[in-house]
Amino acid sequence: MKILVVNAGSSSLKYQLFDMDTNEVLAKGLCERIGIDGIVTHKRPGKDDYKSNVDFPNHKAAIECVLALLTDKEKGVIGSVDEIAAVGHRFAHGGEKLKKSSILGDQELEYLESIVGLNPLHGPPAISGLKACKEVMPSINHVGVFDTSYYSEMKEEAYIYPIPYELYEKHKIRRYGFHGTSHRYVAAKAAEMLGKADAKIITCHLGNGSSITATVNGKAVDTSMGFTPQDGVPMGTRSGAIDPTVVTFIQKAEGISADEADKLLNKESGLLGVSGISSDCRDICDAAEKGNHRAQLALKILVHNIKKIVGSYIAEMNGVDAIVFTAGIGENDRQIREDVCKNMAWLGIEIDEAFNKSCPRGETVDISAKGAKVKTFVIPTNEEYMIALDTLNLTK
Ligand code: AMP
Repeated sequence: MKILVVNAGSSSLKYQLFDMDTNEVLAKGLCERIGIDGIVTHKRPGKDDYKSNVDFPNHKAAIECVLALLTDKEKGVIGSVDEIAAVGHRFAHGGEKLKKSSILGDQELEYLESIVGLNPLHGPPAISGLKACKEVMPSINHVGVFDTSYYSEMKEEAYIYPIPYELYEKHKIRRYGFHGTSHRYVAAKAAEMLGKADAKIITCHLGNGSSITATVNGKAVDTSMGFTPQDGVPMGTRSGAIDPTVVTFIQKAEGISADEADKLLNKESGLLGVSGISSDCRDICDAAEKGNHRAQLALKILVHNIKKIVGSYIAEMNGVDAIVFTAGIGENDRQIREDVCKNMAWLGIEIDEAFNKSCPRGETVDISAKGAKVKTFVIPTNEEYMIALDTLNLTK
């Protein structure tokens, strides 16, 4: 059974076609600059990449281009669009109602449209991508997989903010959590490696956006991102958690509007804001190695905050069986992993520092020290596969 996974952004559309009988990716690619000019990159394993300029006035034109490439005699991987059994769509936000991956009918679409205010950046393009795909492939199921749904069973005390309760009732202001599809995937892998379904696991998704999630028995019990992906650990350009009063203070002191303050905290803070160099961890590591104080400080702040959250989740869960590192920084930055796990032996977390430095990239590895009470794993995330799997399970 072949499943197409689509992730539509404001000017981009990523796709992957899976053969779920063999768990293979048949083709994947990216349509960029939708509504501007248009570039498509189409990749197949073992074949040369294909890149071309194509005019995409909208998401519909982009998905039509994808289907033409997938079925092309030379560049294609399937004989006809009819071979695609269903499409899985990535949605950042499912609100309070879409608690599980779901087939997206009219009612679900209407609900998604009603909550775009909660998700103004990702919601509208994802809906536009969905509508385009439904128009072009009307006879098959379209499934929504929501980053927030992994958190839908958290306890009230983990998601209600201590602000007037009426604001939750009126505006649905609460912790939603994000990156759920990634955390769900790596936490399930870790539980499998531990051979313990009811394991207590802390997953650290550290990338350009970063979040940490505590999972018990396959269900998320807490997570660092909140009402928006702004909360939690410092990120490439996002501040992560800060004293909320800083926001109103900056607005008054700098004479800036709420939107400008929002931009400052989302686009100009985090690793970029502290280092003044870059939002990319690799650039900051290079500068830190050369002795740049602010780059060193940015990394120290990142590690300090990761440790604080990991520690608080151990307290919350009354223990932990495994710590997982994933995403760009988690999978690749050996030093950050070492620094996060340093001085945690009292909690049972100890890694094999030599193996952490030499272990292969892009593979699932156990970097725990021999005899460590808590396992530490590096697990490459695969949100697209998770979306394809949910889509398969809902439609087969
Ligand atoms: P992601 O958002 O998951 O793609 O992760 C992007 C982040 O991962 C950026 O901050 C990159 O600098 C970081 N990253 C990617 N590769 C490496 C690497 N080899 N070493 C250190 N950081 C990396």
